[in-house]
Amino acid sequence: MSDVKLEDIVSLCKRRGFMYQGSEIYGGLAGTWDYGPLGVQLKRNIVDAWWKFFIESRDDVYGIDAAILMNQKVWQASGHVDGFNDPLVEDLKTKKRYRADNLLEDLGIEGVAAMSTTQMDQVIEEQGIKSPDGNQLSKIRQFNMMFKTNVGVTEDENSTSYLRPETAQGMFVNFKNVVDSFSPDMPFALAQVGKAFRNEISPRDFIFRVRELEQMEIELFIHPDNWKEEFEKWLQLQQDFYLSLGLPADKLHKIEVPAEDRAHYSKHSIDTEFDFTIGQKELGGCAYRTDHDLSSHANASGKNLKYIPKDGSEAFIPHVIEPTFGLDRLVLAVIDSSYSVDEQNGEQRIYLKLPEHLAPVRMAVSPLLKNKPELVEKAQEVFKAMKQKYGSVIWDDNGNIGKRYRRQDEIGTPKCVTIDFQTLEDNTVTIRDRDTTQQTRLSIDEL
Ligand code: ATP
Repeated sequence: MSDVKLEDIVSLCKRRGFMYQGSEIYGGLAGTWDYGPLGVQLKRNIVDAWWKFFIESRDDVYGIDAAILMNQKVWQASGHVDGFNDPLVEDLKTKKRYRADNLLEDLGIEGVAAMSTTQMDQVIEEQGIKSPDGNQLSKIRQFNMMFKTNVGVTEDENSTSYLRPETAQGMFVNFKNVVDSFSPDMPFALAQVGKAFRNEISPRDFIFRVRELEQMEIELFIHPDNWKEEFEKWLQLQQDFYLSLGLPADKLHKIEVPAEDRAHYSKHSIDTEFDFTIGQKELGGCAYRTDHDLSSHANASGKNLKYIPKDGSEAFIPHVIEPTFGLDRLVLAVIDSSYSVDEQNGEQRIYLKLPEHLAPVRMAVSPLLKNKPELVEKAQEVFKAMKQKYGSVIWDDNGNIGKRYRRQDEIGTPKCVTIDFQTLEDNTVTIRDRDTTQQTRLSIDEL
């Protein structure tokens, strides 16, 4: 692991306009972060890459965009109302609340993932574990992480709804619609990108654990006989996608989730963990959800959610393989693994070694001097042409050229183009490479 700390990454993100604390001028709102101009572009580039990889380039995956607010019956049937809980303990003196499993893990206690709440209570009692402030802890109770709200003008139990805690259910409730509209062959998948909300007991580690998050999820509908091979295939696709974002293979780890720690719907789950600067932590997962979701919704709604095979064989409720991606965690992983430090002319240089297709700015164009109209005019010409060609190109005439390079390095701009006096003579420009800092001369036509 490098010497880079999370604070360094947070500081760069804030300084350069990737992310800001949510509601910052009012002291913030815990567990929320706002994406600034560069952060949103980076995030969008990741989404675009994902959409291309899993939807546009295939003919067996259908994209959808379901509403965040759903009928409360969805969450009753899915098991979230009863089971989407985290174990909560309270400091009996300060009343501060903690997620019990995280608290024990932070103390280096092993095997916490597989412990029941009773077992965790036992460990706390037997080992005399206190809160981080040194006070006695309460017994653990289950805390439901869904944000409850009311839809419409009356506030009664019929108007209760929830901000969705995962995007998946929007796909299960649209399964029949898509089958009716498109008659897809099995296996096929639905996919969507969108916000999800979890009232995390202790949001932390920047955008790693937040209360408002974004997920990119795929629900692959299969015949149950094929679950193992489909699981392996999609786990591999998930890995291939991570690699396509430039995440180093040696920082990605596949971890089988023990039965006790699996989500209530899952029969087999493999998480991919990533070596963040904050340690090896979950980036995404692949779960075999069986027919839990479609069967539960068929029972609760009274609708027939069976798939009728085109070969005339017996209709069945499809099983589901779900590769899921946490978008905020991917953004963090990409920044984290790109954050680089070297020395140039005795000075420390920070740069983001972002893959070109993810960089929020692909090229910066500058006149060598901003008070020379002939240079500015020529540079504007080049800027406009490049912008038309590459889209995310920016104009930068702030400060001297050295400062501009530093700034562009920090936001991960792969190429900086400078227009100087020689340009006016021979139509060549200087193009500087972010990673090597090497400058070469190139004719404008070759850019
Ligand atoms: P964790 O164990 O870290 O709480 P989880 O196993 O509950 O995560 P899933 O329900 O599998 O997570 O959600 C799918 C993905 O959504 C996760 O792999 C992660 O990338 C992302 N995710 C989940 N919770 C959060 C959160 N609070 N903040 C940011 N991303 C999250």
